[in-house]
This record gives sequence, C-alpha cells and structure tokens, in this order.
Amino acid sequence: MKKIFLYLLIILIFSCCKNTKSEKYFESMNTFMKVQCYGKKCDKANEEAQRKISELENLISVTKPQSEIYKINTAKQFPVVLSEQTASLIKFSLEMANKTEGAFNPCLYPISSLWGFTKKNYIIPSEKEIKNALNLIDYKKVFIEDCNITMAQGMMIDLGGIGKGFAGDEAIKILKEYDIKSALLDLGGNVQVIGTKPDGSDWSIGIRNPLGQIPLGILKVNNCAVITSGGYERFFVGEDGKKYIHIFDGKTGYPVKNNILSTTAIGKTGVYCDALSTSLLVMGIEKAIKFWNENNNFDFIIVTNEKEIYITNNISENFTLNSDLKDFTLKIIN
Ligand code: ADP
Ligand code: MG
Repeated sequence: MKKIFLYLLIILIFSCCKNTKSEKYFESMNTFMKVQCYGKKCDKANEEAQRKISELENLISVTKPQSEIYKINTAKQFPVVLSEQTASLIKFSLEMANKTEGAFNPCLYPISSLWGFTKKNYIIPSEKEIKNALNLIDYKKVFIEDCNITMAQGMMIDLGGIGKGFAGDEAIKILKEYDIKSALLDLGGNVQVIGTKPDGSDWSIGIRNPLGQIPLGILKVNNCAVITSGGYERFFVGEDGKKYIHIFDGKTGYPVKNNILSTTAIGKTGVYCDALSTSLLVMGIEKAIKFWNENNNFDFIIVTNEKEIYITNNISENFTLNSDLKDFTLKIIN
C-alpha cells in the first residue's frame, strides 16, 4: 500500500513539474499563424496569446469597419480619440517614417487602393491619378497629441507594414506573463522566438528562397525576431506584362522596383524588424547598407535578383546556406 502511494506521489510530482508543449495553428491578419510554446501553463498561455492577436487585428485592421484605423480613415472631422495602444503604434510608425526618410510610410493607403491592392481588383492607374494620390500621403501631416489624432481630409493610415510584428511582440508579452521561457511564433512568415529551444540550443529558422520552394538556408537564433518582406508574397502582372508588388515607394507612387527580391530583418522586437524589412526593400541595397551602418541595432539578410545574399557580419556565422543552392553568392557586410 505504502509503495503504491509513493508511486502515485512520484507521478503527481512529475506531472506538475513537467515542461509541457502547446502548439496551435490559426488564421488572423489575413494569414496563417502558428504559436508553439513550452512551460507548465503553456496551453492557457497559447490560448491567451491567440486571443491577443485577434484583439489587435480588430483594433488596427485597415478593412474591418469596427477597427480604430477604419474610424480614422473614414472620419469627417478631427481630432479622433484613439486607445493608448493604437496611438502609440501610430506614433511609432511615424517615427519609423522619419528615421527612414519616408521609405517606411504608414500613409500609403490612397496609393495602394488606387492600384487595387486593398480589394484585389488590380489595375495600373493613370499618371494623373497617381499624382493626385501622392498629395494625400505626407506622413508629416499626421499629428498625435496624447491619444488625439489629426490629419488632412482624404489621408488614410495603414499599419499593414508593422501589424504582424507588433502582434508578435504583444503575444510574447502575454506568453511571458505565463512564465513561458521557450516559444516560437510564426505569424505568416514573421518568426519571433522567446529564449532558446527547451534543450537550450538555438532555434533553426528557415529563410525563404524568393526564387524557389526549398529554403535558402538556416539561421540559428535565440530571443529575437526574424522578419521577411518580399515581392513574391503579393503581386500582380499588369496588362503591360510587368510585375507589380504590394510594397510601394511613396516618392513615386509606384510599387517598388529594384533588384531586391526579399529582405529579412533580425533584431530584438517584432515591430521594429517588421518596419525595417519593409523599409529596406524600398531603400534598395546601397541605402539599406548605409542605414544599417548608421543604426547598427539590427541585422539583415537581403537577396537580390543576381542571386547575391547580403548578410551582416554579426549573424553571418549563424547562417548556413542550403548546399543545393550553389549558384548563390554570400556577401558579408561589415
Ligand atoms: P507582409 O505584411 O506582406 O509580410 P510587409 O511587412 O512588408 O509584408 O508589409 C507590406 C504591407 O505594408 C503592404 O501590404 C501595405 O499594407 C503596407 N505598405 C506597403 N508599402 C509600404 C511602405 N513603403 N511603408 C509602409 N507600409 C507599406
Ligand atoms: Mg514589414
């Protein structure tokens, strides 16, 4: 009897202390997401993280009529009062716009709608239409004081370039509240990790090959965000036979057209790396390298048409190029 009791006690202790795993797949922010986390309260933590992401989608979606962004974009008069969370995210997006000299611009919705990206009714607009829309995208004409936002009539905010990264950061905060010390979030290609794998080794993140299905290579990381933007994600081919991607250059009003196929930004927070991955693509390779040199608080992997992989020196040793892709050349940036 005593023996059975002891045995049950051991099982009980073991099951209480075991590091369990939770893995959930769901759809949010128009993409597929996966959250995988380890810890005693992992199931509840995962559920709450997912709930947070849906809550944020309802707050910042540009198309959902109940969102705060929709409210601003359809407002007849200003100021409009926002929640603290939306106000601070818009403030951050404006700071990124200033920092990147407009490569990142959260006010490009009049342009992207014109090209049909919002409703998937793609069309090449006329020069005149583009010129008119360019008058509505000056991010310097958006003012936020406390939680009050004011902007010119006709301007529209779109946080599509940072939404998933921000959602990742907020989901990570929730997971940490549940004492999760090991997690991997894949929010539609935006990867963010907490700590290391449960066995203490780094996470292996597959970096997508913009020219094919098998990954370009593997990047080993811990405790960071690995966020990729690319023209291969969403684009259309116009009547002129040219390819038009979903990331825009606010200086021209046209989809970005340069030799960059994809940009991956690696750093501490999702929201910063998400803004950066979009910005680096707009900047082009030379400006991207200059920006990295001036800021030095992130890393990047940039893939070009010419099958060059530009990679910053801090992470180059953690990246292993797929051995089947011998025609790519690695260029280490110092
Ligand atoms: P994705 O979210 O598709 O993975 P990005 O993070 O690069 O890729 O975000 C692209 C989205 O950002 C576009 O769909 C659009 O909503 C918005 N966007 C497009 N061009 C810009 C830009 N220059 N600056 C900021 N946001 C942009
Ligand atoms: Mg982005």
